[in-house]
This record gives sequence, structure tokens and C-alpha cells, in this order.
Amino acid sequence: MTNKLYINGQWVGSKSNRTIKVVNPATEVVFDEVAAGNAEDIDAAVKAARKAFDKGPWPRMTGTERATILRKIAMLINQRLQQLAAIETRDNGKPLPESQWDIEDTAGTFEYYASLAEDLDESCEEIIHLPEQRFSSCAIKEPVGVAGAIIPWNYPMLMAAWKVAPALAAGCCMVLKPSEATPLTALALAEIAHEAGLPAGVLNVVTGLGNDAGQALSEHPGVDKLAFTGSVPTGSKIMQQAARDIKNISLELGGKSPFVVFADSDIDKAVEWIMFGIFWNQGQVCSATSRVLVEKSLYAALLKRLVEETQKITIGAGDKEGVLLGPLVNKMQYDKVLDAIKKGVEQGAKIATGGQRPVGFEKGYFIEPTIFTDMSEDSWIWNEEIFGPVVCIKSFETEEEAIHLANDSRFGLAAAVMSKDKERTERVARLLRAGIVWINCSQPTFCEAPWGGYKQSGIGRELGQWGLNNYLETKQITRFDADEPWGWYIK
Ligand code: NAD
Repeated sequence: MTNKLYINGQWVGSKSNRTIKVVNPATEVVFDEVAAGNAEDIDAAVKAARKAFDKGPWPRMTGTERATILRKIAMLINQRLQQLAAIETRDNGKPLPESQWDIEDTAGTFEYYASLAEDLDESCEEIIHLPEQRFSSCAIKEPVGVAGAIIPWNYPMLMAAWKVAPALAAGCCMVLKPSEATPLTALALAEIAHEAGLPAGVLNVVTGLGNDAGQALSEHPGVDKLAFTGSVPTGSKIMQQAARDIKNISLELGGKSPFVVFADSDIDKAVEWIMFGIFWNQGQVCSATSRVLVEKSLYAALLKRLVEETQKITIGAGDKEGVLLGPLVNKMQYDKVLDAIKKGVEQGAKIATGGQRPVGFEKGYFIEPTIFTDMSEDSWIWNEEIFGPVVCIKSFETEEEAIHLANDSRFGLAAAVMSKDKERTERVARLLRAGIVWINCSQPTFCEAPWGGYKQSGIGRELGQWGLNNYLETKQITRFDADEPWGWYIK
């Protein structure tokens, strides 16, 4: 089914008959192709979602009924875990254990939102206490309508779940457009949803290019809500595209997340969390620990250990055992990251380790894990998102300086702080301007907790109850209960 689109419960060809090649980033070999959906296909998908929303059973079911299907989707994902993880590794390049982790989390996200769908049956009506006795009022929650979801390539199936699971739990019908770089598991999700008995038109999946299918989805007047995850420049375009008919939008964008390490920190723990924060998923993580700030008295020792441990990382194809760092997702990302490294050197920063294509790799988009030091505060690599296995490390002398350096960014997605002093970590966590702050760790993500950024890192929150609220409208219903006239005209 990979060269078909999933529209209105059926697998159909794209109107353009064109396809997009799917490349294994570890070998550079084309191993599949998907349909290049265009504006006409998006129109058909939005119309199917609209019909399912306006006339179909899904928004009219109880939350508990919807939860049964969401749980079935979770179960089928778990049953196909190994197969889906293998697809993800071949498509995206990430090491297989990381793909397995992603797929488990994907199933967990559907399970979690199944519970919230059940809770909706209890919590969807809230009584409002009014000062005027002749009136009674309540607020109810209703699905927002037709949702469009546009996602990136770094966690292909998991990013789909972060949008599809809460949207379906809320009772929305939707169109999902996966990244052209990693389209396969979104199509597998459509297959699974079909098998789980999701009614036709509730979930439609259209593969295609961003400036074609993506743009058509964000501009389509039949879409009530647009949920986007991707880069800041595309997020800005999406806002403009969605502005014409005032769509409800949520944006999860990029980051340049700082990790502040105070001198009393345990060096082993600091090194492990920094490495996990920047080399996990080849650094292609929106919240990646890409700026490390270390208190001056610990800086030299920490840098030495970090370099030693980084040089031990096993690089290779994601399906090889023991590999910690796979290839970058595609040639474009590989070129972008090498270009960023070149810019860093040109602007005077020093490479403590890495910076090259690893020796012995003829094929594949591999780049060594890279540590930069001595970069200036206004340099490109200190300020811009690289989205690769590249970390910048800098020292600081006072807490105030650390907070200033950490917050001196147009991004505000995530930040981390490490110290044995609990009072200090609690204080600093509150002073860091970011939507997610980790204390004594970096990156662990739970579907119960809100996810999203300050500043240019986005608008709104995903996950938890916040993620469900993205797909719900609040309606006030107010009733006049008295027998006598209101009194404005008839006394
Ligand atoms: P991208 O912005 O290039 O593409 C994201 C999606 O948008 C893709 O599906 C693409 O096809 C589509 N798109 C491109 N142009 C479009 C247009 N004009 N109209 C509509 N859709 C369009 O991002 P990417 O390279 O796929 O992903 C990397 C970026 O995503 C990074 O900046 C990263 O930080 C960010 N990201 C953020 C989060 C988060 O939760 N905040 C999570 C993952 C990734």
C-alpha cells in the first residue's frame, strides 16, 4: 500500500500519479516509493474528513466507545512492534533499539488518550456558578471539527501519534500529512486504524511534499484546526497560510536547548545526560542538549571526560547491533549539518572531537559526534538549531551569568540544570525561559506531561490533558429558568 493514499477508508492512487522515492540513509539505496499527493488529493481527504465529522458516527460516539478503538490501535501497534521498528530504522536511520522505544511510546500514547477519552464522558460538562439566580449555565467540551496534522521526520510514527491519538480521542476527524523524508509508518498507522475498525473518513493519510500537499492542507477552508510540528521557517509559513480563514493552530517548532551544569555535579552523570541529550537520535531532536554551560571550576575535567566518552561511540547502520549513532535522515540534512560545522570553524570555534564524515564509511549520511568549544556568543553555531550530533560547550562563572546565557536565545523549547543543591536547581528551573525544564537529567518525555515551547519554539502544548484540549472547543450553554419575564421590556 505504500504508493497509495488512505482516503475515506480506502487505498487510492494520487491524482498526479507521481511518486516520491524512499531512501535508506545508511546505504543511500532507494527501497520504496510513496505517492506524491497534491492539492486535489488533500481536497478529497478533507472532504472525507468533513463528511465523517458532520454526518458520521465518530464525533457522536461516547468517549468510552472511541476509547475501545484507540485501545485496539495500541494493541495492533504492539503486535507489529518489531516490524514497525524495522521500517522506522530503514526509513529514518535511527538505531533499532531507539525505533523500538519510539513504537512502544506510540502504542502508549494511544493507550493514554484512550483513558482521557473515557474521562471525557465524566468531565465534558462543567457547571458554572452565576451570581444571578434566574440563570443556570454550564460549559461543555466538543471536538473542534476537522483537524489537519503536519509532522516532521525525526520521530515519524511517534509524532503522528502525538496528534492523531488526542484528535481522535476528542472526536475530531482528520487528515495527516507525514514528512516526505519518512512517510512509511504513517501509512502503516492508517492500515492499523482500518483494521481496528475506525470508521471511514475519520483518519485520512496523504503523503506528499511540504510545499504541495502540506501547503494545500494548511490553506484548506474545510480544516478547522491545524497542528504542526517542524522547523521555525515552516511554522511561520503555516501561520500565514492558516491566517486567511483564522484556523485554530498549534505549533511545535525548533530549539537550541541549554544544559547548565554547576560545579558540584557528579561528572559521570553529567556526561551521560549530555551525551544522551545530544547524540540520541543523531541529535535530530527538537529539545536536543545543543548548548552546554559548565561552571568554570568543572569545565576542563568535564570537557576531557565528554571527549573521551564521545570518541567511544559506535557509529553504523541502525540495524547493526551495538550501534549508538546512525546516519542522518537524508542527504539534505547531512549537507546542512556539515555546513553548520564548517561555519563554526570559519567563525573561530574549535573542534574538540568529531567534525567529519567518519573514516571507513563509503556510503550513508554519517557524521561523527562533534563537540565545539571556544565559540563566541554571537556565532552561528551557538545560536542556530543544527539538528545533528553537534554540541557547543562553554563555561560560566556565576549563576546569573549561566541564566543569562541560557535565556539569551530566540528559542525556548527546553532547558536543563544539574546540581546537588536542590534549592538552586528549583530556583534556576523557574528562571529558565523554556516550556520544558529538566533537573539533573535531560530529555525524558512522558505523555502525561505538557510539551511545547516559549518564544519562537512554538504556540500551545501537546501531550497530557493539554494535548487533548488542542482538539476541543469549549461551549457555554446558559439557560433562563424563571417563570416571570426578564424585565427589560415586559414588566
Ligand atoms: P520542516 O519544517 O522542514 O517540515 C515539517 C513538515 O512540514 C513536513 O511534513 C513538510 O513536508 C511540511 N512542510 C514543509 N513546507 C510546508 C509548507 N509550506 N506548508 C505546509 N507544510 C509544509 O521540518 P523537518 O525538517 O521535517 O523537521 C525538523 C524540525 O522540526 C526541527 O526544527 C525540529 O526542531 C522540529 N521539531 C519540533 C518538535 C517539537 O515538539 N517542538 C518535534 C520534532 C521536530
